[in-house]
Amino acid sequence: MVDVCIVGGGLAGLMLAKNLSSTLNVVIISDSFTKGNSWLAQGGIAAPLGESDAPSFHLQDTLLVGSKHVDGLAAKEIIEDGERLVRSLVNDGFPVDLTSDGDLALGKEAAHSHHRVLHAGGDRTGKFWMKKATTATQSVKRMIASAHSLVMEDGTCKGVRIVTEQHQVKTLYATTVVLATGGIGELFGVTSNSSAAKGTGLSLAYHAGARLTDLEFIQFHPTIAVDKQGTKGLVTEALRGAGAIFTDQEGTPLAINPLGPRDVTARLIDYHWRNQLPVFLDRTQVEKFSERFPTAKQVFKDQQRIAVRPGVHFHMGGIQTDLGGRTSIPGLYALGEVACTGLHGGNRLASNSLLECIVMGYRVAEDIQSTSAPMTGIRESKLPEPPTEIRNKDFSQESLVHYCGILRDESSETYANSLPLQQWDLANVPVHTIDLLHRYTTSSLLAQSISLRKESRGAHFRIDFPSTQDEWNHKVIVHEGNQKWIETRNSSQLKERVYYESIHH
Ligand SMILES: Cc1cc2nc3c(=O)[nH]c(=O)nc-3n(C[C@H](O)[C@H](O)[C@H](O)COP(=O)(O)OP(=O)(O)OC[C@H]3O[C@@H](n4cnc5c(N)ncnc54)[C@H](O)[C@@H]3O)c2cc1C
Repeated sequence: MVDVCIVGGGLAGLMLAKNLSSTLNVVIISDSFTKGNSWLAQGGIAAPLGESDAPSFHLQDTLLVGSKHVDGLAAKEIIEDGERLVRSLVNDGFPVDLTSDGDLALGKEAAHSHHRVLHAGGDRTGKFWMKKATTATQSVKRMIASAHSLVMEDGTCKGVRIVTEQHQVKTLYATTVVLATGGIGELFGVTSNSSAAKGTGLSLAYHAGARLTDLEFIQFHPTIAVDKQGTKGLVTEALRGAGAIFTDQEGTPLAINPLGPRDVTARLIDYHWRNQLPVFLDRTQVEKFSERFPTAKQVFKDQQRIAVRPGVHFHMGGIQTDLGGRTSIPGLYALGEVACTGLHGGNRLASNSLLECIVMGYRVAEDIQSTSAPMTGIRESKLPEPPTEIRNKDFSQESLVHYCGILRDESSETYANSLPLQQWDLANVPVHTIDLLHRYTTSSLLAQSISLRKESRGAHFRIDFPSTQDEWNHKVIVHEGNQKWIETRNSSQLKERVYYESIHH
């Protein structure tokens, strides 16, 4: 029995581990400690540290990009905490690039009104921060294992069943379990994500009965480099901030704003490709390219321009949590990309996700350490075992791209109906089928949310409902066990409206 079991060894999991007291018995279980989206982060970490910047400007940018769907209070608190916590990590030796005067070199990315993106090693921020976070948490116990399912007793999370490297299922009991399993990109074929981003955390939480929300909001990165062999990796937005532009194959500029909001840019590029007009990213105007963008250099090699198309990049939705990272289930927390605090709303402002990992790592630790009363839940009725027929269903990467990709329509409803789902008892699911079951569950949840939101907002674009509808303002789609419903976001949403309206008057 341990005090805290963290599932997932990305930046979210490590930041939590770093902030937990050394008197607690903590273990991080992860199917990899060298893979995950955190290692791939390029642009950097958004924090309002520039002289002319302020948390209120950062908040305004977050709200605008979030398409009237951000939880205003969550965003305000995360950004305000971020200013303090990021500065303190930098003072503690977390790496950042500096200007020749020794000041923080703050980059500017799409839809940011100010220079506020800290970076390290040029475009290798994720790698540099993960290395430092790994060193800073080296005394914390680690285990390479994959989470199979959550152990539930009387509606309370009591631990995790894990699949060991020897393919055996073992039960690890813990006073507190924290899911930090990252994103969903691997479920789709075209993605910027690591192969570790399998969306398992959503399925683990769903079958335990936790609330999930905003699952329809998936951000597509506009510039995934492609060639005839497939995807070649993501090209950071920062390159466009430094002067790269969209062109056709011959280098003639296209009418696509290089610094427009991600979703609009991604749809425009997709539209060109659908009309057999390949889109290229041209780096000719970027000064000191090789020195400033070593990762992009590996993708471009010696070419001036490369073909780019949109792919799954970031999941705004996830396991619903409060600002202490608590889920709706006693004993279970979530943070990082698998969680949904409401910070990102309908679309994420670039570089706000590492910020969220850092701030929530601190906040979840505080919450766990200040919770003394044992949390008890409601006894649930006995759940059925999953049916074997799911093996015959179609939840291939191609289908996900087609029905849950960048352009959606009414066919998502038929697709969602073809993937029936209910809360199942996973305890006895054999090792060789558990991954399939998680993949099925998460695919079904995504399709259901996509089919339910009959409007377009942020990154969610419905061809059959192409405009944003006022009656959907502040409405969230929630899944909890066998129930799903649409509700108005809680009172913190009112704060957002005030900020949002003050920006527009
Ligand atoms: C190419 C790319 C560039 C990006 N650039 C930026 C950027 O510049 N700035 C920014 O803010 N954000 C960026 N993002 C987004 C950001 O990197 C992620 O949102 C963030 O790193 C997520 O951190 P995490 O710890 O939640 O997940 P991850 O870092 O993905 O870690 C999840 C961990 O969970 C483990 N895991 C998964 N499932 C299981 C399981 N069932 N059992 C056990 N372990 C499991 C994985 O192995 C992994 O270790 C980028 C993302 C990508 C893909």
